[in-house]
Amino acid sequence: MSTALVLFSGGQDSTACLAWALQRFDHVETVGFDYGQRHAAELAARPRIRTAMASDKLGADHVLALDVLKQIGGTALTDRRVIEMGANGLPNTFVPGRNILFLAAAAALAYRRGIADLVGGMCETDYSGYPDCRERTIRAVETALDLGMDMKFCVHTPLMHLDKAATWRLAEALGGQALIDLIVAETVTCYEGDRTHRHDWGYGCGACPACALRAEGYAKYAGRVGAP
Ligand code: ZN
Repeated sequence: MSTALVLFSGGQDSTACLAWALQRFDHVETVGFDYGQRHAAELAARPRIRTAMASDKLGADHVLALDVLKQIGGTALTDRRVIEMGANGLPNTFVPGRNILFLAAAAALAYRRGIADLVGGMCETDYSGYPDCRERTIRAVETALDLGMDMKFCVHTPLMHLDKAATWRLAEALGGQALIDLIVAETVTCYEGDRTHRHDWGYGCGACPACALRAEGYAKYAGRVGAP
């Protein structure tokens, strides 16, 4: 029986990855990370999305605390500070080492559970420039995990070379309008965790960089780029 562990945050990308994994593997487990995010909207969305996507294949959920990221702080995702560009060309929403820690923790959990396939929503196409989302980083971490645990892991990143519009199209291909409706209604992308302002692409403040990317991708997907 093939089994995968999906890094599932409750966002749009990891929800598409969960649907992707459920089509390809016999059994799928999920892991989320509580790292002291400044809002709990994503973590709160996870069980609702899992319930909506429940099937014979969907197995256990795991939530691991990685609050070392909050302890280190200094980012707009872990501290109350205004989102802005830093001198290094990265927005201050960049959490250094986050995906490396996530993958190491997920692989350690997978090792204990005898799972070799990890699935993550990292993407280097239209993204915020985070260096730990790049294919080269993920492949290097994969090699480190193989060596460090003496086990052959495969880190699947089905969204790596898709833009946000293509990610919406992938979701439609995987789960039809029902999955699109679920992503719009339940997934959280907004850096502010805004669940009060509803747009055609879902809930969000509409102003933060994450909302801007999601809105732009949805408009392109829905064929309304440039429309009034
Ligand atoms: Zn927002």
